[in-house]
Amino acid sequence: MPENNSPKTPSLACPKCQGRFLNERKIGATTVHECPCCSGIWLDKGELNEIAHPAEGDLEYCSRENIEEDRISEFLCPACKGSKMVKVNFVSYSDIIMDYCEKCGGLWLDRGELDAIIAEVEKLKHVPESWDHKIMVFLSKLPF
Ligand SMILES: [Zn+2]
Ligand SMILES: [Zn+2]
Repeated sequence: MPENNSPKTPSLACPKCQGRFLNERKIGATTVHECPCCSGIWLDKGELNEIAHPAEGDLEYCSRENIEEDRISEFLCPACKGSKMVKVNFVSYSDIIMDYCEKCGGLWLDRGELDAIIAEVEKLKHVPESWDHKIMVFLSKLPF
């Protein structure tokens, strides 16, 4: 017997596609919401950190540091209807721009941005030597 398809959580509407609702999508152990139309992804507060778990530090916190006044997004938060999101950078050195809701802490990622973030996190995982470590190794090899 087919399950009825009413979602457990209240439906979230895509902030970009009028009248479209987001579907649930599992990424690892985390359930996120994806738009069937534009493939954008909505992450509740904490979900980016969950998905990028192997990375050190709080990725969502990093993104908040770069909020600037002139970067108000044209899109409204799908969770807190009517609240405008702001544009933020995923870690300062990347060129990945996300929409962030200051009210609920949710993040909107355009198509491909989550993959770009996961790729960025993978890179960090596979380069265990931080700059500090490299500098220490360098200093330890100096002849004095
Ligand atoms: Zn959409
Ligand atoms: Zn919100």
